[in-house]
Amino acid sequence: KAAHQKELFGHPVGLYILFFTEMWERFSYYGMRALLVLYMTTETIGDERGAGLGWTSKEALALYGWYTMLVYVASIPGGMIADKILGQKKSVLLGAIILCLGHGVLVLTDTWAFYTGLGLVILGVGLLKPNISTMVGGLYKEGDIRRDKGFSIFYIGINLGSLLATMIIGVVVANWGWHAGFGLAGIAMVFGLLNYVYGQKFLKEVGNYVPNKIDENEVSYGKLYAKLFSSPKQLVIVAILLIASIYGWYTLDWGFGLLFIFLTAITALLVMIYKDLDSQVFKDRFLVLLLSFIMVIIFWGAFEQAGGLMNLYTETNTDRNLFGWEIPTVMFQSLNAGFIILFATLIASIWAKRKLKGKEASSLFKMALGIIIMGFGFLFMVFAAIEFEKSGSSSMIWLVLAYLFHTIGELCISPVALSFITKLAPVKYASLMMGVYFAATGLGNKVAGIVGESASEYGELTIFSGIVIFTVIFGLLFIMILKPLKRLTHGAEEKERVLK
Ligand code: GLN
Repeated sequence: KAAHQKELFGHPVGLYILFFTEMWERFSYYGMRALLVLYMTTETIGDERGAGLGWTSKEALALYGWYTMLVYVASIPGGMIADKILGQKKSVLLGAIILCLGHGVLVLTDTWAFYTGLGLVILGVGLLKPNISTMVGGLYKEGDIRRDKGFSIFYIGINLGSLLATMIIGVVVANWGWHAGFGLAGIAMVFGLLNYVYGQKFLKEVGNYVPNKIDENEVSYGKLYAKLFSSPKQLVIVAILLIASIYGWYTLDWGFGLLFIFLTAITALLVMIYKDLDSQVFKDRFLVLLLSFIMVIIFWGAFEQAGGLMNLYTETNTDRNLFGWEIPTVMFQSLNAGFIILFATLIASIWAKRKLKGKEASSLFKMALGIIIMGFGFLFMVFAAIEFEKSGSSSMIWLVLAYLFHTIGELCISPVALSFITKLAPVKYASLMMGVYFAATGLGNKVAGIVGESASEYGELTIFSGIVIFTVIFGLLFIMILKPLKRLTHGAEEKERVLK
C-alpha cells in the first residue's frame, strides 16, 4: 500500500530522498569498482599510484567476477531480511552503515583489509540495493502510470553517482594513490547515509511494513527448505544436484562447483515459493518474472564486460590520446553513466507517450529489444579488435559507440525490469523477488567474468564477435515467445493511469 506523499515535479518527495541515497551509494560502488582490476594487476613494487597486488589479469578478472556476482547475490538474503525482520527502510539503513565501514576498511593497505572491505561491501550492498529499489515501487499505488517514470528518474540517480565517481576517482588515484581512491568511495557513502537519515521524515511509512514478520511466522524459509526433503522424489533430485556440484568442484574447478551449489539452493527456494503461492495469477506472474530473469542474466553477462575485459582493453589496446592528452582508462567507465543521464528521460517519455495512446510495448518486449541493441554494440568492439590486429592500436571511437549502444540497451531492460518486478511480485515476497532479480544480474556479472577471462585464450576478436551473434539471436528468440508470456502476466500492465 503506497502512503500519501507530498509531491515535487510530479513525483512523491520520497523519490528524491531515495534518488540521492542511491546516488551516493553507487558513487562509492562504481568508484571503487573502477579501480579494482587495475589495482589488482598493478605490480607490487607499484607505480606513482602506489603498490598494487601484482596479480595476472586472469586472476584479477576471476576475483572481479566473484566479487561483482556476490555483491548482487547478497540481495537475496538482503531481501529476505527485509521481508521477515527489518522491513525495507531499516534494511537500507543497516546496509548504508555497513558500506561506510567496508569502504573505510579498504583505505588500509593490508591484505586482510582488502578482503574484509570487499566482504563488508558485499553485505552492505545486499541489504541496501534490492530494498531501496522496492521502496521506489512503494511510493506509487498499484496501477499508477508514473511508476515507470519514477524508476527512470531513480536510474538517473544511480548513474549520476557512477558518473561523478568515475570522473573524479581516476584523478584522485593519479595524484594520491589507490587507497585515497578507496577513501573517496567511503566519504561518498557517508554522504549517502546522512542523506538517508535526514530523509526519513519524507518517506512516511514507505518501507516500514514487514510482510512476513518472523514471530507471526507466516512464511519460514527454513520450513520451505525443510519441505524439500518431505518427499522421496524431491530428496532424490536434491541429492543428485548436490553430488553433481561436489563432482564439479573436484573435476572442473571449485568455482564451478560453488556456482552450482548456489544455483541449486536458489532454484530449490524458488520452487518452494512457487508452491506456496495461493493463486494461479500469482503463480503465473512469478513464472514470467523468472523467465524474464534469464534475459537479465544474458544481458549483464555481455554488458558487464565494461568494468573487466573492456576496461583492460581500453588500458592496453586503445589509443587514448586526445589532443596530446592521454585520457585515463577509468574515465571511459563514465561514458555509460553519461549516456544514461542524457537519454533516460527521453526514452521513458517516448514510452509514456505511446502508453497514453494505448500503443505501448510490454516490459518483456522492451527487455528483449534491450538485449539486441546492446548486442549490436559489441559489433563496434569487433571493429576495434580488427583494427588492433592490423595496426597494433585501436581508435577510442569504437569504445564510445559500443558504450552508446550498451546504454540504450540498458535503458530498455534495466529500469523497466525494476518497475516490472514491483508490479508482478506478490507482496509477501516483494523484497525477496527484487533480491532474486539482483542475484540474476549477479550471475550475469559472473558469466561476464568467465567470458572475459576466456579472452586470454581465444582472443578479444572471437569473444566480441561471439557476444554479438549470441545476444542478437537470443533476443529474437525471446520476442518469438512473447505472446504466451504476456498472457501469463494477467494484465499487470494494462489500464495503468495517473493515481495520486
Ligand atoms: N547499473 C545498474 C545499477 O548499478 C544496474 C546494476 C545491476 O542491475 N546489476 O544499479
